[in-house]
Amino acid sequence: MRSQLILHFEFIASHSLSVRETPHDHRWRLKTVIQGEPQNGMILNMVEVRSAFQTCIAPLAQTYLNDNDRLSPAAQQTPTCESLAAHFFDQFTAVLTDRFCPGNPTVRLQAIEVELYEPDGQEWGSVRLEQS
Ligand SMILES: [Zn+2]
Repeated sequence: MRSQLILHFEFIASHSLSVRETPHDHRWRLKTVIQGEPQNGMILNMVEVRSAFQTCIAPLAQTYLNDNDRLSPAAQQTPTCESLAAHFFDQFTAVLTDRFCPGNPTVRLQAIEVELYEPDGQEWGSVRLEQS
């Protein structure tokens, strides 16, 4: 039986796109799905993995994404849900590989969803990126 550990995160950051050029804030919500076999009752230590993922999210929070050089040039050009999903997929995969796979080699990032909201909570939509 396969188990999945699901973690949600949220941050606020601004961006501008060709379809809406004036810089504006959004609430970005991340849903991460980690697959793995529980070992000693847990897939991973939630506190530790949350903290490790937060350190990847913090450099984007409260920034203007188009000018944030933590993102690739292409992602800075078009900081969309798609771009951020790819960015965080790479970052979180690296964190799991480096810090958590030595303790539980069965874990891998299965999917990530990036949901886009207005600051007042109105939802625009989301993008899901999944390991094939
Ligand atoms: Zn926008």
